Amino acid sequence: MSLLHIENLKACHGLLVALHDLSFSMEPGEVLGIVGANGAGKSTLMRSIAGAHRPAQGRIMFRGQDVTRLSAHRRVRGGIALVPEGRRLFPGINVQDTLRLAACRKGIWNFDSVLEVLPQLKPILKRQAGLLSGGQQQAVAIGRALMTNPELLLLDELSLGLSPVAVEGVYEALPKLRQAGTTIILVEQDLRRAMASVTRLICMLEGRIVLSGAAGTLTREAVMDAYFGLN
Ligand code: ATP
Repeated sequence: MSLLHIENLKACHGLLVALHDLSFSMEPGEVLGIVGANGAGKSTLMRSIAGAHRPAQGRIMFRGQDVTRLSAHRRVRGGIALVPEGRRLFPGINVQDTLRLAACRKGIWNFDSVLEVLPQLKPILKRQAGLLSGGQQQAVAIGRALMTNPELLLLDELSLGLSPVAVEGVYEALPKLRQAGTTIILVEQDLRRAMASVTRLICMLEGRIVLSGAAGTLTREAVMDAYFGLN
């Protein structure tokens, strides 16, 4: 049984159709990368899986259960966690409390194991989230999601607005998450980085999947052509 199965998903923003009849499945342990130009529908897809956007049609099955109509909060309890674009931390809450308040399911992740994979958080535990750099905030947002012990972790544009050094710091955690068996969907603008970090890649264009394949089987040229709609 697939961990996640998306079936004929359609999502709209008012009259605009952001996702057209989208279908794909994911197995446990996969790291799926989603690339595509601005407006391709990547964030709408992530938000739909997390329950932050209600799809117009289609089904989202998670561990064999239909979660399409479940609230975002019920989905977190079921094992789906989103690190949203823009991070969305509470600026006045310190790092330690941000992490501890998020704990909700039993599993491998707890305060100590999260600090092991995100060691950059150790020196800033007492600092308010709103006063941290972008890279530090991104690490806190990942840590907060891990504290919910997700079976599926959704990472939306981790590198957005970060310096190259900060991006490295955040990406260093990914292989450790993979080793821990966490299944991940990663939206990434940087094609090279996406192709190096994932087991499978999906390229979206105008709300549709235009290319999909195991990371090792896709050439950069083929992905670029799909990205720009040249196929
Ligand atoms: P980006 O990389 O810019 O975040 P994306 O691939 O994540 O792009 P989405 O943000 O999902 O794409 O947007 C898909 C389409 O839906 C775009 O045409 C966008 O303008 C539109 N859209 C997204 N959010 C809204 C909204 N809240 N209201 C109206 N239209 C929206």
